[in-house]
Amino acid sequence: MNYYSLNSPGTYVDFKEATIRGQAPDKGLYFPQTIPTLPNQLLDNIDTLSREEIAYQVIRPYTGNTLPETELRRIVRETIAFEFPLVNVSPNIQSLELFHGPTLAFKDVGARFMSRCLGYFVRDNKRPVTVLVATSGDTGGAVASGFYDVEGVRVVILYPSKKVSSVQELQLTTLGKNITALEVEGSFDDCQQMVKQAFADTTLQQQLFLTSANSINVARWLPQQFYYFFAWQQWTDKTNPPVICVPSGNFGNICAGLLARQSGLPTAHFIAATNANDVIPNFLQTGEFKTQPAKATLSNAMDVANPSNFVRILEIFQKQVPSLKKSLSAVSISDEETIAAIRQLHNDHHYLADPHGAVGWLALQRYLDRHAGAKGYFLETAHPVKFYDTVEPIIQKNIPLPASVRSLLDKQKHSKKIPAQYTNLKDFLLS
Ligand SMILES: *Cc1c(COP(=O)(O)O)cnc(C)c1O
Repeated sequence: MNYYSLNSPGTYVDFKEATIRGQAPDKGLYFPQTIPTLPNQLLDNIDTLSREEIAYQVIRPYTGNTLPETELRRIVRETIAFEFPLVNVSPNIQSLELFHGPTLAFKDVGARFMSRCLGYFVRDNKRPVTVLVATSGDTGGAVASGFYDVEGVRVVILYPSKKVSSVQELQLTTLGKNITALEVEGSFDDCQQMVKQAFADTTLQQQLFLTSANSINVARWLPQQFYYFFAWQQWTDKTNPPVICVPSGNFGNICAGLLARQSGLPTAHFIAATNANDVIPNFLQTGEFKTQPAKATLSNAMDVANPSNFVRILEIFQKQVPSLKKSLSAVSISDEETIAAIRQLHNDHHYLADPHGAVGWLALQRYLDRHAGAKGYFLETAHPVKFYDTVEPIIQKNIPLPASVRSLLDKQKHSKKIPAQYTNLKDFLLS
């Protein structure tokens, strides 16, 4: 399989090059040359297959000959080494829980897959590759955990001091070994700006082999298809495929679901649930793509002004917005509605949701109210404990800590504080 840049169709790179580069030189996102059709036997026999076999068959066409079968099978096995349960919430709604990985959010899947691919691709390199990433919270932990102890890879994470939750900070700063956390005395935008400057700095590029672990990387995007198939395996009413609701920020997760659908996954409909950052709901309603500065909300991992993966969704539908609208709706949910949803899920359905999952549940609930007979699931994208400061006052209860968080609390934070100026980052990288 080859990949082209959405900015300049016509030149192609393979999966290895697309993974190492992250973004095309013309700043476009990479997109697969063809979308594979999955073999019938995969879908017909899905009940009898292991999750590893399903994931392997889904990703195989995308990696082509850049990864030998035994390596790809190992990478897939390690990527999905935790549970993906579809849990009953109400008679017509289930929750696909994607928070059972090491950093308690769905980003573990993409980060674990990408880190292992990159580790394999750079195994013979003379100089180590440096992965540079800015995080507002969730991405950094998933990337740090994914790359931990991967040989030949050094990871440098920039995060805004005092602006990530305490659990998130511990996930970033307690690993050590090949992971360094830089605590930037500034905002997330400062961190992102400093990373951008590093990638534009040619003297730095000559001395270091720099790459990013940005969510637009194909090696993070494509494996997110896996759990839509795991959900289908657990879906009992195969004659009535699910409406799937995805809490969305950059739209990478839902874009993977739509790609799976294009390859043959049975689905009834997709819903993108956003918070107050409603560029896409507005676009689908008015046809106008109008970005605005990001608004801060309770579901902060979705506070995205300009969802970068939406161009890939348009490409899947060959830029035909009417046919896109038949398969995808988008709904914006306010913070007040999110709070009410967390409370209602807890009190009426005995289900503890995080703010992102709650946004998804409410958008799905509303859709099903208008579509008799339909059933569906929403993606619960993070464990509620990651957002305990929001959730606990709403449900007026403490959330029990999972074992992985309990063990974090005993660990020592190691970070290097730097002022929010690029020279400080550059000096550190070259030291
Ligand atoms: C990143 C994130 C999202 C948004 O996912 P996108 O792929 O950017 O749409 C939703 N929920 C949580 C908890 C996240 O960390």
